[in-house]
Amino acid sequence: MLQEQEAHAAQMEQTFIAIKPDGVQRGLISEIISRFERKGFKLVAIKVVVPSKEHAQKHYHDLKERPFFNGLCDFLSSGPVVAMVWEGEGVIKYGRKLIGATDPQKSEPGTIRGDLAVAIGGNVIHGSDGPETAKDEINLWFKPEELVSYTSNAEKWIYGMA
Ligand code: GDP
Ligand code: MG
Repeated sequence: MLQEQEAHAAQMEQTFIAIKPDGVQRGLISEIISRFERKGFKLVAIKVVVPSKEHAQKHYHDLKERPFFNGLCDFLSSGPVVAMVWEGEGVIKYGRKLIGATDPQKSEPGTIRGDLAVAIGGNVIHGSDGPETAKDEINLWFKPEELVSYTSNAEKWIYGMA
């Protein structure tokens, strides 16, 4: 039992997930949150913010050479974003699976973008693409004290440690 718990703790990860302004305006907040929640991932931070353009530029800094960079940053800072940190085993990689491919035309049905979006400029959600970006993005969007550490009652059932 102790070994199971230690292995579980070692595999715990956090990822940064944001519902973009189009997802908020389209009333998709609860739909998107429920997909992560029902899977068994744990919400450890959440806030509604209108990011500044400078903040959006920092968030998307690795895309600064791309032709769509300026429009993308204008868009992200155009209205409320729901910024979140989700925690769980494998949440970084599996979060990307829940989200689906960047271009909703290529996202599989069953994914968030596959089910809820049509165009790349309106793909409703952001998710960190790896452990390093997850760490950087969480630090960019949240202060450490905004993250809550807790054990959910469901965890032992979710991870098969009951
Ligand atoms: P993601 O990690 O799946 O969100 O994709 P990227 O990190 O490659 O790109 C970040 C965001 O930029 C995407 O979610 C889209 O909103 C936008 N984007 C990416 N590629 C394109 C493109 O070719 N054209 C336009 N207009 N937007 C794009
Ligand atoms: Mg990305």
